[in-house]
Amino acid sequence: MIKATILLIAHVVSWAQPAAANEPKPYPLAICIVSDEKLHPVGAPISLVYEGQEFKFCCRECRRDFKDEPEKFLQKLNAAE
Ligand SMILES: [Zn+2]
Repeated sequence: MIKATILLIAHVVSWAQPAAANEPKPYPLAICIVSDEKLHPVGAPISLVYEGQEFKFCCRECRRDFKDEPEKFLQKLNAAE
């Protein structure tokens, strides 16, 4: 019970300060950051976390492309938000 309370507090704090938490910032877009296609519609999400930011992709190829140039797509996301 005590553990659950601590987890709840930690969750509220991370929500108020997303940049300071270990939990990644959720991906804010409905499209793939690499191809601008719709995100993968079924099955397990194709995603990764880079610099505390979650990214989602329409397919594995886009995730691979992201890994080649993560900074480029991080900037693209910041520009899109
Ligand atoms: Zn793709």
